[in-house]
Order: sequence, then structure tokens, then C-alpha cells
Amino acid sequence: MHPRPVAGDARIGRPVGVNRGGPVKRLPAASSPQRGENATAGVYGARLRLGGPVLLFGVVLAVYLWRRGAAWCWPELVWYLAALLQLAIRWPHVEANRANRVARSRVSRLEQWLMFGVFLTLLGLPMFYLATPWLDALNYQLPSALPMLAAGMMAASLWLFYLAHAHLGRQWSPSLEVHAEHRLVTEGVYRLVRHPMYASIWLFALAQPLLIQNAVAGALAVPGFALLYFLRVPREEALMLDTFGDEYRAYMRRAGRVLPRLGG
Ligand code: SAH
Repeated sequence: MHPRPVAGDARIGRPVGVNRGGPVKRLPAASSPQRGENATAGVYGARLRLGGPVLLFGVVLAVYLWRRGAAWCWPELVWYLAALLQLAIRWPHVEANRANRVARSRVSRLEQWLMFGVFLTLLGLPMFYLATPWLDALNYQLPSALPMLAAGMMAASLWLFYLAHAHLGRQWSPSLEVHAEHRLVTEGVYRLVRHPMYASIWLFALAQPLLIQNAVAGALAVPGFALLYFLRVPREEALMLDTFGDEYRAYMRRAGRVLPRLGG
């Protein structure tokens, strides 16, 4: 269970908790935690409070209701509510994990583009669509049973999102990094699947085009998240293997990727 040092690893302070006596060169601890030193602070801002994004959500809803008048559409409001609840579930972890001290980081330029793509397709474009009429030419119409199915998918997605955050706790990061006291989480929903948070976001991304019936603001969620998922997961698992070695290898045999292994 000796983590292998890999070129490009950023190490601050002592190495990860599981590493004792491994061939890891220790760098001196930063004298004080730097603002923006981890991905949580980098992505969500080092000082941003929940009031900022909530204000933006409030403005978008007010403009949407003012623009549409009586022509508001419940599937679009289901998407909006799901996005707001996602933010509420995640925010306590954003606040807590900004203090994490990174031991190992794999936040490449590609990672940053993939996160930007997800931000744009799963949040930015739908919000733009709700607030303005400028994407309306690309609307499509689906049978009304599909938004109902999507509302159920959103409920399942949020439940899974909540469970994954609750179990991952301080180990959560919006990108690929391991912090100084990182431990491997294999309990709760992580006993069944290795990537419950990504399973939850898959449900969200698949439900979005059924709720927001627009080729840009709805449908792009699927390729937007697929790109991140397929390019990130091998890198994330390599990071876990480099850090936890055989412990993660054994865990991979027990737990499925986003679907539980059949037969237990
Ligand atoms: N892929 C997981 C976690 C997403 S958050 C999921 O879908 O639920 C991404 C961060 O979680 C990565 O920086 C990685 O360091 C950490 N991570 C992923 N799996 C983990 C596990 N089983 N235990 C502890 N940390 C984990």
C-alpha cells in the first residue's frame, strides 16, 4: 500500500495518511493555507458565500416568471428546483473543503476544460434559456409522459447526490485531488458503487433534455457530462490506485462503477 509518487503530483505538507515510510519526498508545509490552493476554492471561489449563487437563482426565477407570465412550464421549474437543491446539498461541503490541504493533485488543463463544459451545459445554458428568449428557436416538444419520468429521475438524482456527499465528506473535491488526511471511503452508498456522485449527475444530465426541451439548453447536458465522465474516471481511478494501492484494487473488485455489481 505504498503510494507511488508520480510526476506532476503537487505535495503540500505531510503526505497522505496511508503513506508511512513510502518513497515520498516531503516538501515543507505551507506556513499558512493559501487562498485558492485547492480545487474547491479554485472552482467555487475562496470567499464566495451561498448568498451569491442564491441571488443569481432568485434573479433568474423572477425574470423567467415575469417574461412568461401565465405561460410558465412545470418541467422547466422542476429542473430549476433540482439545480437549486443540488447547490444546497453541496454548499456545506464547499465551505468545509476549502480548508483542505492538498497532498496530491491531478487538475490538468483538460480537467479544467471538462469542468467548464459541465458548468456551461448543466447550469449556464439552462439558466440563460430560462432568463432570455434567445435560444427559443431551438425548442422541441416531447410527449408529456417524459417530463414526468424525468421528475422521478431528478428525485433519485438528488437523493443519491445527498448520500454521496454525506459519505464522502471531507474527501469530496470538484476535481482530482487527494488531501493530507484523505481516507478511502467504501461504506454507505460507496459499498455498492465507486462513483455514486457521477451516477447522480448522469441521472440529472439525462433528465435535463426531457425537462428543458431545447437543443442547446437541454440536450447538450448529455455530451457535456459524458465527456467529463469518460475522460475523468480513468484518471480518478489511477489517482486512487496511486494513493491507496491494493486497498482500492480490492474495492474495485467489490463495487461496480456507477451500477451495483449483479450477484452482490
Ligand atoms: N467519483 C466519486 C467521487 C467524486 S468527487 C463519486 O462519483 O462519488 C472527486 C474526488 O473524490 C476526487 O478528488 C477523489 O480524490 C475523491 N474520491 C473518489 N472516490 C473516493 C473514495 N472511494 N474515497 C475517497 N475519496 C474518493
